[in-house]
Amino acid sequence: MAHTYLARDRTRGLDWAFKRLNDEIMELRMAVEKGKKREISAESADVFAWLTSVSNLVEIDLESASYEKYGNGCSKCQQIPCSCPMKRG
Ligand SMILES: [Zn+2]
Repeated sequence: MAHTYLARDRTRGLDWAFKRLNDEIMELRMAVEKGKKREISAESADVFAWLTSVSNLVEIDLESASYEKYGNGCSKCQQIPCSCPMKRG
């Protein structure tokens, strides 16, 4: 993603990347509500792409960060599957 977009992302800036990430999350929500798998798949990829852009702009390796936090299971109880008490709301 950085090879494809980082130069452009730097030009447009972090505020722009956050705005697009928010927009794509809303588009993903609408796609989920419609229940169309192909659209959900495309919007999920867009959310991931913009999250990656934000991470790249703040010089975080998203893959490493995700693995570091969740690579050994739940980030709180360290279990797979998570055995933390369920919270709602
Ligand atoms: Zn847990």
